Amino acid sequence: MSESFDIAVVGGGAAGAMAAIRAAELGKMVILIERNDSIGKKILITGKGRCNITNSAPIETFIEKFGTSGKFLRTALYKFFNGDLIEFFNSCGLEMKVERQGRVFPSDDKARSVVEALVRRLIDLGVKIVYSARLTSIKIDKEYFKLEIGTERTISAKKVILATGGASYRATGSSGDGFVIAEKMGHKIIKLKPGLVPLTTNQEWVKDLQGLALENIRITFEAGKKKLVSEIGELMFTHFGISGPLVLDLSGDVMDMVEAHKAVNVFIDLKPALTSEQLDNRLLREFKSSGKAQFKSIMKGYLPQRLITLFMTLAGIDPEHMVNQITQKARREVVKLFKALPLTVKGSLAIEEAMVTGGGVSISQINPRTMESKLVPGLYFAGEIIEGSAASGGYNLQQAFSTGHLAGESAAG
Ligand SMILES: Cc1cc2nc3c(=O)[nH]c(=O)nc-3n(C[C@H](O)[C@H](O)[C@H](O)COP(=O)(O)OP(=O)(O)OC[C@H]3O[C@@H](n4cnc5c(N)ncnc54)[C@H](O)[C@@H]3O)c2cc1C
Repeated sequence: MSESFDIAVVGGGAAGAMAAIRAAELGKMVILIERNDSIGKKILITGKGRCNITNSAPIETFIEKFGTSGKFLRTALYKFFNGDLIEFFNSCGLEMKVERQGRVFPSDDKARSVVEALVRRLIDLGVKIVYSARLTSIKIDKEYFKLEIGTERTISAKKVILATGGASYRATGSSGDGFVIAEKMGHKIIKLKPGLVPLTTNQEWVKDLQGLALENIRITFEAGKKKLVSEIGELMFTHFGISGPLVLDLSGDVMDMVEAHKAVNVFIDLKPALTSEQLDNRLLREFKSSGKAQFKSIMKGYLPQRLITLFMTLAGIDPEHMVNQITQKARREVVKLFKALPLTVKGSLAIEEAMVTGGGVSISQINPRTMESKLVPGLYFAGEIIEGSAASGGYNLQQAFSTGHLAGESAAG
């Protein structure tokens, strides 16, 4: 069976859905090919099911967040930015709200509403959607691309937009097919690596703290001459190491440090608002006024229970000791732990567990003004398949929608 279209979009995630919508708005006959039996499986799990769809930050912040691939996104972001995206969803009947750090969410807190809005618009515009159809290869036959889906079905299209996503959370459909197909068509794939990923540590004691979340802390990562200092925020202990927003956002850079130095020293500052001296004075005052209290009960005002136990082990303090039995040396050791609880990072979880994929189709081979391949005319890329990713905050979904919109418009043009 063979069917013919103006534009075939491969992948029904944020990028592919927006690319198909834009191309259809411009009057093209569009087919959207999706391997799952529904659109936007990954969107459903974004923002813990609430979908942090974009950020209210200015374009320059977005460009900065994408690091070395930031400039490549300039045209895509200018042409279809956060305000345009919010307006688009408003026109689909979905209101948006802005939360702390400029994070934008649907007003009803439901990622499902985002997916439903996209599907409604695709249907209204007459985009043909084929579900449970996995693209296996693309061949070029005169001025047509021949897309093979399974063994029986071929689709012909004048233009193709590859929006198959990255290689993480494979159960959502993004298992990296697009990289293989793009590579076969001559594209360079920048080494894939996990982005926004939990880190593994050498210390066994993290297991005892599994599930413990610490708020208002700061982390410093150090290896060789390189030092990364986080903002103040939240960290979570896991049975293998550390996670939480602060860790995820810096994980890409930390993994570059691990690659260069094997291990990275980590220091958690549990009281970033106080200097060591201020903290020591405070403890000293408290120790003087409650000399007969047990050290562990005084610490309750400062630390969660599980950390008190750890502190006593690391500082060599007997759990039954009264405050007046704590030596100056032990007290200073406690202050040191408060200001720089030490760990060493040895790696990260696998790419499968990462929220985004670093690396991808090289931006040096994609025209940033159109998203068209510089090697294969008529072939376009959109979304996470493209090299580069950003910290959390809605930046990655905006990248998918912006590049999707630009690819759809250029392919239709
Ligand atoms: C747990 C989690 C939470 C996240 N939260 C946020 C958040 O709140 N905000 C944010 O900005 N970003 C978030 N992200 C990142 C964001 O989800 C991605 O950046 C974004 O979804 C990428 O969109 P995409 O369309 O490029 O790829 P995808 O959404 O992965 O879509 C690709 C589509 O292509 C299909 N496909 C793949 N191969 C084939 C094939 N061979 N044939 C046919 N179809 C194929 C897949 O089934 C899939 O539907 C999160 C990611 C994860 C994993």
